[in-house]
Amino acid sequence: MQFAAFADRAAELEAEPADLETVSLVAALFRAADTDELPVIARFLMGRVFPGWDSRTLDIGPRLCYAALAKAAGTNVTADDVEERLADEGEIGVVAAGLDLGGQQGLAAFAAGGGDAGGDDGPTLAEVDDALREVAAAEGAGSEDTKLATLFGLFSRVSDDEARYLARLVLGEMRLGVGEGTVRDAISEAFEVDAELVADALQVSNDYGLVAEVARDEGEDGLSEMGLTVGRPVQSMLAQAGTVTGALESWEEVAAEIKFDGARVQLHHHPDGIAPPAAGREPTPDDPTVRLYSRNTSEVTDALPEIREFAEERLDAPAILDGEVVAVDDDGGPLPFQEVLRRFRRKHDVDRMREEVELELHAFDCLLDGRAGDGTDGGEGADLLDSPFRERHDHLTDLLPDAASEVLYSDDAGEVEAFEQEALDAGHEGIMLKRPASTYTPGDRGQDWLKRKPDVETLDCVVIGAEWGEGRRANEFGTFLLAVGADEGYETVGKVATGITDERLAELTELLEPHVVSEDGQTVEFRPEVVFEVGYEEIQESPTYGAGYALRFPRFVEVRDDKTPADADTAERVERLAGGVDGEDDA
Ligand code: AMP
Repeated sequence: MQFAAFADRAAELEAEPADLETVSLVAALFRAADTDELPVIARFLMGRVFPGWDSRTLDIGPRLCYAALAKAAGTNVTADDVEERLADEGEIGVVAAGLDLGGQQGLAAFAAGGGDAGGDDGPTLAEVDDALREVAAAEGAGSEDTKLATLFGLFSRVSDDEARYLARLVLGEMRLGVGEGTVRDAISEAFEVDAELVADALQVSNDYGLVAEVARDEGEDGLSEMGLTVGRPVQSMLAQAGTVTGALESWEEVAAEIKFDGARVQLHHHPDGIAPPAAGREPTPDDPTVRLYSRNTSEVTDALPEIREFAEERLDAPAILDGEVVAVDDDGGPLPFQEVLRRFRRKHDVDRMREEVELELHAFDCLLDGRAGDGTDGGEGADLLDSPFRERHDHLTDLLPDAASEVLYSDDAGEVEAFEQEALDAGHEGIMLKRPASTYTPGDRGQDWLKRKPDVETLDCVVIGAEWGEGRRANEFGTFLLAVGADEGYETVGKVATGITDERLAELTELLEPHVVSEDGQTVEFRPEVVFEVGYEEIQESPTYGAGYALRFPRFVEVRDDKTPADADTAERVERLAGGVDGEDDA
């Protein structure tokens, strides 16, 4: 496929506001792709040249891109001109499309070192992909020149429409409105496979191109066989804020762990070595047996030699572990997060910094244990994503006993609170709560992992208004307006929408609806009757609310049906809390 045809489709996608139509357009594009082009199309649509697990980047600074565009535009345009136009237009695609690069096609054929002058109908998708991979591979002295020459070669072969999408691709700003969900549904539609299977395959492979290919060539069977691969990091599972009582209510039992204040790391180990992604070959004994990746799946192995050595000494089977790297003081106590940052992405002086800041691994999950099942990497039984947390953690403790997090399994809030207090006393940030039966869902910020940061306080606020929800929530309140007692009546201090489950939202709507006194569009006003207990992280001065202060990160805790508005907290107390006045008690 010509890149021009891809650019046409991209323009159509961009002009299409409806999600369903977008899915159909992408599906049609997938079906029209030639055998080898499908993965390239899937990645380009997402603005990527490499799969998500591949740490390579194009490493093209904006100036280099402007310079290449300017050079392709002709002698009277400079990189500064391009930058200036960008400041006016706000978007590189518009600027690139306005440079009339197509006018230079005679020069293009010359620059590209081939093609019959004047007869070039632009690069193919594969040519663009190859050229960008070349750009990514250029390193060392003279690499900037190589990159510039390659980009110039591409830009001078393209029409205005192609230039728009090529420039965006080069700068990683594709923004076609094609998200992960669209690609998932389009793969499902194009190759008639179950969307859930596609979603699972995307999670374990972190590779849109590969999943599209497998769906096309091997169908649902192929998709369900896709598993984790050592050397291909997946997205980290993420956490939401939550409470101990909420967690116990929904799960009955929690797995509580220390929340380590460091940097997320995914550790991959393979005794046969892990080849670098760019090599495209089987590993050799010279390849490292351990590679480390950040939360965004970029490789950080070289910055963390002691973590690598630690794992090398202890692991012998293939493994993928999830954890946190923290900086520690001489007594092994945790140091603030900033200390880890001094080490984490460092490329130079690693050895010197290693002397200054000592790092330690706290592993808290095991995604793959090569000793399990049939013992092959990623084979039957080794991939633990679908196993419950408790089981994965047992694998972890077994594999790496001296770095595995300690877990308290408990159904008792008091016990968990005591555990939290111990963690805080030891200098940690707080605790994490995990559902013991939960699977590992890469990239998901779901309800199964909760971070419980200690609330400074909770406040009892009067609910004096709300906004109706949207879409399928149109019949329920979405956001509640909070107030505290003032000299006369009530003054607002913020709005709360988080910490409320779907079920709870329905109950709250039922509870509050009888108190509506007026309604204006989406907004309603309540008679002050109901008191919410609300947690928050801090209180800041704010002109937005009547009390002159706003709760930051307010979180619904409970309805205080034992309190009337007269018992609610007051503006005076809010002011005192904001000022951190000594002697503030827990009235
Ligand atoms: P936050 O960055 O505040 O959203 O908190 C979630 C992050 O806490 C995770 O992404 C991890 O990097 C980190 N973390 C620290 N300790 C743990 C733990 N025991 N389990 C999971 N995540 C943890």
